[in-house]
Amino acid sequence: MDLSDIQKAAGLRSPIRSQLFIDGRFVDAASGETLPTLNPHDNSPIVDVAMAGAADVDRAVAAAQRAFPAWSRMPAADRGRILLKIADLIEANTEELARLESLDTGHPLRDCRMLDVPRTAACYRYFGGMADKFQGETIPVEAGFLNYTLREPIGVVGQVVPWNFPLMFTSWKMAPALAAGNTIVMKPAEITPLTSLKIAELMAEAGMPAGVVNMVPGLGATAGQAIAEHPGLAKIAFTGSTATGKRIVQASAGNLKKVQLELGGKGPNIVFEDANLVAAVNGSAWAIFHNQGQACIAGSRLVLHERIADAFLAEFIPLARSIRLGNPLDAATEMGPLTSSQHQQRVLSYVDVAREQGGEVLAGGRAPADPALASGCYVEPTIVRAASWRDRVAQEEVFGPFVTVLTFKDDAEALQIANGTDYGLGAGLWTSNLQRAHRFARDIQAGMVWVNSYKRVNPGSPFGGTGLSGYGREMGFDAMREYTQVKSVWINVDARIAPHYAR
Ligand code: NAD
Repeated sequence: MDLSDIQKAAGLRSPIRSQLFIDGRFVDAASGETLPTLNPHDNSPIVDVAMAGAADVDRAVAAAQRAFPAWSRMPAADRGRILLKIADLIEANTEELARLESLDTGHPLRDCRMLDVPRTAACYRYFGGMADKFQGETIPVEAGFLNYTLREPIGVVGQVVPWNFPLMFTSWKMAPALAAGNTIVMKPAEITPLTSLKIAELMAEAGMPAGVVNMVPGLGATAGQAIAEHPGLAKIAFTGSTATGKRIVQASAGNLKKVQLELGGKGPNIVFEDANLVAAVNGSAWAIFHNQGQACIAGSRLVLHERIADAFLAEFIPLARSIRLGNPLDAATEMGPLTSSQHQQRVLSYVDVAREQGGEVLAGGRAPADPALASGCYVEPTIVRAASWRDRVAQEEVFGPFVTVLTFKDDAEALQIANGTDYGLGAGLWTSNLQRAHRFARDIQAGMVWVNSYKRVNPGSPFGGTGLSGYGREMGFDAMREYTQVKSVWINVDARIAPHYAR
């Protein structure tokens, strides 16, 4: 199939963008190199995308540096208005963006329509409104002085995102950075660049000045590394694996750029004996199986009170088996393929890891038998009971539709399991006991805790982790703090300062 056939088959109305976006224009990579992006439903190529290298990152940083003075001094309300326009354009293009995201990542179309695109628009709208509401303070200092703070943009920021939620993650990074007056060099993941390039097109349409946002898809080891090392960037904000996060910290040391890291997780999802089981079963399935489990906040450790474990699993296992796998562009599909075949193999390898340590596979554990899905990156919803919370499948991030079941006998053991990894990102608990809910919310080491729900996100609510899950927060006022630096200004109004060196 040629590109126009692929577009037509996916129901796309506008051309797929496949060039870098630098200084307001779509351009080829300086090297002329490209990288194919594949459809994870059948591993067929969609389009060859320009592959940025260090020279392109240099061009993008230079463009962002040129754009910075005017953008940062533009009245905040005017910056906000452009972000609000972007939100409108995203909404107007919901179907197009949802289909493109689904094609490139394997997310079910219905999730892209209901979640990814509306959440992306909501993020630009929230920070569009925030632009002229985030302000400094006056500080009550000693007599005779006025002391106030200015919240200044950091400068040109580098941003690097993974492949699991490209639309949402680029918005979580770009919207607050832009609202605060920064300019951007953004690198989407090499295997899912298409919606990021479409967003660049919509930004230009919304009136974003050239150079404010530059999009440089390319490999992590080259384009990503060049961003992390670049002396012209004042900050790097990264979402991805903990291993890459550590490399970024090292690479950023050259010019001591500010670093913000959103890394991996191994979310505990605890079901107490007093939980509403119907809600907990459904919510726990969503916690792990949404987006094929490719979520840093996935509830990938299902921690069940031993008294209700059998009753819970008697409902949970058939529910998992009933999830409709299929072509993500089919509106009835509830679970699509993983985003790459390499990742599919990695997820499946954890079934052997589980068995080697005495784990029992309760459901799934293989690619589906359906011949229509045989050439894609599919994995059946997989439930594994681990022998111990110290086992690898209870400690390592699998990042797929793979949930590890553990049991506990009392609250103390539940907390020990919950806090028994080096990660600390999302955590959930299901209980009808108010005291217990608040106690666990206090005692769980995590950046986010959901009670009688899981995986809620909102542009106003801070998102991020502790420990090996990284540092810094996206969303809300915290994100604006991350993308500004504070300057303290002292004015001598009528202070009489005794001379230090009276002569
Ligand atoms: P990854 O770390 O391999 O890649 C993420 C991004 O970093 C990609 O764009 C990649 O090209 C780039 N990259 C790779 N090497 C680099 C380098 N040396 N320098 C600079 N950039 C480099 O991660 P992934 O496999 O794409 O994504 C999955 C991981 O992301 C999981 O661990 C998941 O938990 C994590 N994640 C975290 C969050 C969060 O908010 N905490 C959200 C989503 C995903």
